[in-house]
Amino acid sequence: MDTSFIFEIKKLLTTPKKVVIVPHKNPDGDAMGSTLGLCLFLKKKGHSATVITPNDYPEFLKWLPGNDEVINYEMENTISKNIISSADIIFTLDFNSLHRCGEMETPINNAKAVKIMIDHHQEPDSYADYTYSDVNMCSTSQMIYHFIEKMDDLNHIDIAIGEALYTGIMTDTASFRFPLTTSLTHKVIAQLLELGVQKSKIHNAVYDTNSFGRLQLLGCALNNLKFLENYNTSYITLTNKELDFHGFKKGDTEGLVNYGLSLKGAKLAAIFIEHKQEGIIKISFRSKGSFNVNKFARNHFNGGGHNNASGGRSNLNLKDTITKFTDLLTKYKLQLSS
Ligand code: 5GP
Ligand code: MN
Repeated sequence: MDTSFIFEIKKLLTTPKKVVIVPHKNPDGDAMGSTLGLCLFLKKKGHSATVITPNDYPEFLKWLPGNDEVINYEMENTISKNIISSADIIFTLDFNSLHRCGEMETPINNAKAVKIMIDHHQEPDSYADYTYSDVNMCSTSQMIYHFIEKMDDLNHIDIAIGEALYTGIMTDTASFRFPLTTSLTHKVIAQLLELGVQKSKIHNAVYDTNSFGRLQLLGCALNNLKFLENYNTSYITLTNKELDFHGFKKGDTEGLVNYGLSLKGAKLAAIFIEHKQEGIIKISFRSKGSFNVNKFARNHFNGGGHNNASGGRSNLNLKDTITKFTDLLTKYKLQLSS
């Protein structure tokens, strides 16, 4: 894509600015890695920068550099609104549509700040003054690396920034194995390692801090796994009761859908999670090959994402959601069985 507008952003950032950086609701590793990486970089450049998350995020991301200064909009509503309304620049990272940041949509819309989107999801909306979108990138964190590169500031990347970006790239590629992991991704990672980023420390902090309850929940999820051989499709369900029983905490269901996709022959995998409080079923889709789960989630489950990883929601109950899903599969039988 034409990224010449980044020079305009560079010009904008030649004098100290008040910057707000926002990830999507229920931030994941890439959302937190990219926002914190950019925040630390902008602070180093002399700006006043604040990450405001729409809501809380998993414990396994709370060791990230800069974590202690993150503001949670849900918990610190008034302060957040004031910071947003007085910002000069608002970066929105790792999402393509403002409703993805939940309640923060209105204050961001009303803010006078210059809005800059940096994101790798399909079909970005056009709310921002500057849109740096690249759907061929594995992660927004890799895009932040390239953004800093285009600002001619690679020498500003230190271990803290490197750790944040490494975490985002590692989590969004499921440890460098998803299809959008390219040789360029590995070159970026190599640069971060040369800076002194400790890959084992990050891997341990993110993946090896399972609680007993989380592992029991994994057992429960695997026990509920179904495989629809005719459609090369697997799905997992988790009820609110099962989540409660295993002491569910934010982040505990992250990655479970990938187990379904690891089944021999699986081309499509889904997980349906009952959210009693919100009264919805939250869904994640993953696919292998050409089955486009971005379109599938967009067309049928009010969601979106990438070609091979997407999410959505259903207002039906769990049983009816599964019926809707399995009925839909009949329409896609040819694509799924070829
Ligand atoms: P996950 O299944 O890990 O929550 O999300 C997979 C991908 O789909 C992520 O890139 C995420 O941003 C996107 N995604 C998840 N849920 C939704 C949703 O409800 N709407 C949209 N547009 N994208 C989603
Ligand atoms: Mn991402």
